[in-house]
Amino acid sequence: MNNTATDSAIEVCAGAATAGPVRELLSARTVQLGEGTEVRRLLPSLNRRMIGVWCFVDHYGPDDIAREPGMQVPPHPHIGLQTVSWLLDGEVHHRDSLGSNQLIRAGELALMTAGGGIAHSEQSPDPHSPVLHGAQLWVALPDADHARAARFEHHSELPVIIDRGLRATVLLGELAGARSPGRVHSPLVGVDIALAAGSDVRIPLEPDFEHAVLTVSGAADLDGELDPGTLCYLGCGRSELRLRAENDSRLLLLGGVPFAEEIVMWWNFVGRSGAEIAEARAQWQAELSGTGEGRFGAVRGYEGPALAAPELPSTPLRPRGRAARKA
Ligand code: MN
Repeated sequence: MNNTATDSAIEVCAGAATAGPVRELLSARTVQLGEGTEVRRLLPSLNRRMIGVWCFVDHYGPDDIAREPGMQVPPHPHIGLQTVSWLLDGEVHHRDSLGSNQLIRAGELALMTAGGGIAHSEQSPDPHSPVLHGAQLWVALPDADHARAARFEHHSELPVIIDRGLRATVLLGELAGARSPGRVHSPLVGVDIALAAGSDVRIPLEPDFEHAVLTVSGAADLDGELDPGTLCYLGCGRSELRLRAENDSRLLLLGGVPFAEEIVMWWNFVGRSGAEIAEARAQWQAELSGTGEGRFGAVRGYEGPALAAPELPSTPLRPRGRAARKA
């Protein structure tokens, strides 16, 4: 997750509600996460780094893990972000250094606020369901909250809007007056949209937000077909989204006020400077070797070693804005 690739020039919203709607399809690149887990990374991508405060989007599965260990992600640290774990099928066991020990099932929200530092592990339980399918999303915390105390929230009850073939589950933020219980620190929205075959629906949007739609399954139509596994960036200035689906389809709608702050994203950290990232890395490595002060803490109950941080790049990590740099 090292942003050293050369970005190409793109058009972006200059600020909230200044740019009109666009329709830009971003395709995924395949990333290997530990042993046996392959994900499709949609954000950050070469052409786009953020959707509002959403700064990371991984989509995985549906994978047949009936005879496999499934997801096995050892303890690793985070700072400066919230992780949003959303399962479409299956379950994952979350443990963290606050002592959280929680099974997350499909349709339940796991929201971990890293703030100044936390460590967690994610594992398919044993035994587990035969199919694993989900999304791992990150929200960048604004500067005022980026070093706050860590916390973990598990919400098994989320607001659902049902309307003529539409079933919309509000993960974060608000849609049509229905608000998620998940605690956030900036204006954003995240919605799971299930469309029954033959549906033609209009979903209200906040025009000051920029939005994108990740097609998880099926192939809905949004001014043209959305292929499964793609992220469709929609820009700012839309007050509604018209979606049609010939077949059952599943989408994730992500949006938020365009993020004005410059951040450094490296490995599992979101910081404000290269020095902050280097300090977090050094503190994690010190904890792994048993000499650290406990900024992140141990993940109790996980059997096996934690993940070591990669080497920092040889060129300094510099804060960057939401737009991809012009080449
Ligand atoms: Mn993580």
